[in-house]
Amino acid sequence: MTTDEPASACRFLKIDLHTHILPKHLPDFAKKFGYGEFIQLQHLEDGRVNMMQDGKHFRTIECNCWDPQARLRDCQRFQVDVQVLSTIPVMFNYACKPEDTLIISQYLNDHLAQVVAEQPRRFVGLGTLPMQAPALAVQELRRCMLELGLKGVQIGSHVNAWNLDAPELEPIWTVCSQVYLIGLIDSRIGRGGAGCRHLCSSMGHGDRRTHVQVLVSLAHWVRGIKDDNDHVLVLLECLRKQPSPCAP
Ligand SMILES: [Zn+2]
Repeated sequence: MTTDEPASACRFLKIDLHTHILPKHLPDFAKKFGYGEFIQLQHLEDGRVNMMQDGKHFRTIECNCWDPQARLRDCQRFQVDVQVLSTIPVMFNYACKPEDTLIISQYLNDHLAQVVAEQPRRFVGLGTLPMQAPALAVQELRRCMLELGLKGVQIGSHVNAWNLDAPELEPIWTVCSQVYLIGLIDSRIGRGGAGCRHLCSSMGHGDRRTHVQVLVSLAHWVRGIKDDNDHVLVLLECLRKQPSPCAP
């Protein structure tokens, strides 16, 4: 079986919704913008890469983070038909100048689109947006969906001091309601109970009926369930109240 064929013979596709990806090389954004603690990639002799942030080790990654062929071999090994690709949340850069975050988002989204275009049956892409500047986020969201062929976006569980129900973010949800997309909420910063609280406060207010076209997936919430049972009960109640996308 070649790597561009589905990994399993099952009539349902096995889709891994939460797989992060980076380009093999990143520009020196700190040098380009003249400030900031942007991630830099330090290639090691053994083929792995250290992600460095402001000179400090953030994480070590292996070639399956950037090499599509290595990813396809992993898919074959675990019988995964499709990987949904998204950037590593430390690349959100919501605290930076909006125009700089837009440049980084465009760089990452262009790379994502290129990887998907080479294996359209095996990879689906979720873009990243400069969420701290909703007008720019809307602009990049439209580009992701209409020009790059991505299928959705991955966002954080909050945007700096905003929860996801902040009125400032409403223009983004309005566009989301106009295109059917996949949303992945990755709570890198607010893992566990804190992340769970952010999501509860987002879903517990406002009228989300206009946003039912968004298929939302949550990442890293298991610890939240363990740490924060009360908020999980609130979350489940909020989800129960959501109208079904299939309802007439
Ligand atoms: Zn993640």
